[in-house]
Amino acid sequence: MTPATATRVFNFSAGPAVLPLPVLEEAQRDLVALPGVGMSVMEISHRSKTFEDMLNGAIADMRGLAGIPDNYRVLMMQGGASLQFSMVPMNFLAPGAIADYVDTGTWADKAIKEAKKVGTVKVTGSTKADKYNRIPAPGEIALTPGAAYAHITTNNTIEGTEWKSIPDTGDVPLIADASSDILSGPIDVSRFGLIYAGAQKNLGPSGLTLVIVREDLLARSSDALPMMMNYKVQAENNSLYNTPPTFGIYILGLTMKWLKSLGGLDGIAAINQRKASKLYAEIDRTGFYRGTAQKESRSLMNVTFRLPSEDLEKLFDKEATGNGLDGLKGHRSVGGMRASIYNAFPEAGVDALVEFMREFERKRG
Ligand code: PMP
Repeated sequence: MTPATATRVFNFSAGPAVLPLPVLEEAQRDLVALPGVGMSVMEISHRSKTFEDMLNGAIADMRGLAGIPDNYRVLMMQGGASLQFSMVPMNFLAPGAIADYVDTGTWADKAIKEAKKVGTVKVTGSTKADKYNRIPAPGEIALTPGAAYAHITTNNTIEGTEWKSIPDTGDVPLIADASSDILSGPIDVSRFGLIYAGAQKNLGPSGLTLVIVREDLLARSSDALPMMMNYKVQAENNSLYNTPPTFGIYILGLTMKWLKSLGGLDGIAAINQRKASKLYAEIDRTGFYRGTAQKESRSLMNVTFRLPSEDLEKLFDKEATGNGLDGLKGHRSVGGMRASIYNAFPEAGVDALVEFMREFERKRG
């Protein structure tokens, strides 16, 4: 039998995305019977000690990796980052209050649209006029004093930009959609009021959503909210108010152990920096390829670029796929190419793409 690893392609998908191979292998080995338990992880009660240990272990490992302070709660939820677009204002944007949002991309725009259904939103900075090809400079953001919170999207998955430094919002809690760069490097959690992320890029499978929330903010969640959409209820029940996505939490736990084995967030940051640098160097080498994000805003996770024509882009995608480089087509809303190279994306895959790009340019350039 051919080992499964021999049939794996390099998967550049923006999400759900490639998972660490050792994580998949361990999950495969233990899928039918967890050692010492004799049941699949998908068959055990979420009220069992086995599962609670798994949940608390995963959270403890994440706390250790990211240095999450004691006054923050780590929640494992469902509904994706998209449900957070609604939950954040439902919990924290009271009538009469204003929430600041920075508009840096398609997902930020979606977060804004959902928040507007709940309360008063002020767009405090936007790079829409530049097709979201950059992050606004500090001077372009006008924060509202006394705002309920300020919201940013730390990495813009579709446009391939990221915040290089976190804005200082003073006493106003900063809320971040970190779906596409969560745990890709060191993070100072104390700078944020709440961080949320769909798991399906850097943490595990889809169906699981991570929320890290500062404890004092939970007092803002009204008892009138639906239980499932109330952060306080979720925190009081340690994410076990109802049946949580148990399999996803298991995989997230394995992913935390894998990150530890690489030297934690400093270790993965160095790897991510190296992978992205190789790719951007190739994009900048001759001018045949053109990076779409402004250089100082370039994302280490989603590398977006164009070729001289749409026909060449189509051909590039087709030939790349034929060469085992899958998922390079950019988001349908912006076109072009996008190489998503999250934590688990192997450096050998970046090397293979660079090699392919050189060869493609040689033949068609
Ligand atoms: N925010 C960002 C930055 C994203 O990249 C995505 C998904 N690609 C979302 C939100 C939406 O996430 P979900 O599909 O988990 O709702």
